[in-house]
Amino acid sequence: MNGNRIGTGQRERLYASTTATFDGDLDLIAIEYALNGEPVKLTIPEKIHAARILESRGMDLTSIGHRIGSDRSTVAGWKASDWKPGKPVPKPKRPPAECGEARMYRQHLARGEKCDICKAANAAADRRYRLTGSRKEAAA
Ligand SMILES: [Zn+2]
Repeated sequence: MNGNRIGTGQRERLYASTTATFDGDLDLIAIEYALNGEPVKLTIPEKIHAARILESRGMDLTSIGHRIGSDRSTVAGWKASDWKPGKPVPKPKRPPAECGEARMYRQHLARGEKCDICKAANAAADRRYRLTGSRKEAAA
């Protein structure tokens, strides 16, 4: 008897193409394996092709990266450059600290400056940390 384990229902299989096996330099069979989470080595153009298909199916970039064997920032870079090979998009830098922020207090200290506003903000952040485990202000 050929049974199925409970919970292993038939999953929808994704196809890169239902007619062709090659498209220029793209190995559509390999891409189909990747789309369905089967281990396969892809070239960069094949990875981009697969990532684009998975993204159009609503998969998040981290899962896409996992499935094609690239990291999230690489996939994000391809998406940002309209699915062409490109450099990964760097994470946005956080804006410089301003007076009144707890993290500015440490900068004042490093420069040997005194600032009561930042000192108070740092003390408040420390109190929050002791009470809640987070130095961040609660969202209003
Ligand atoms: Zn200050």
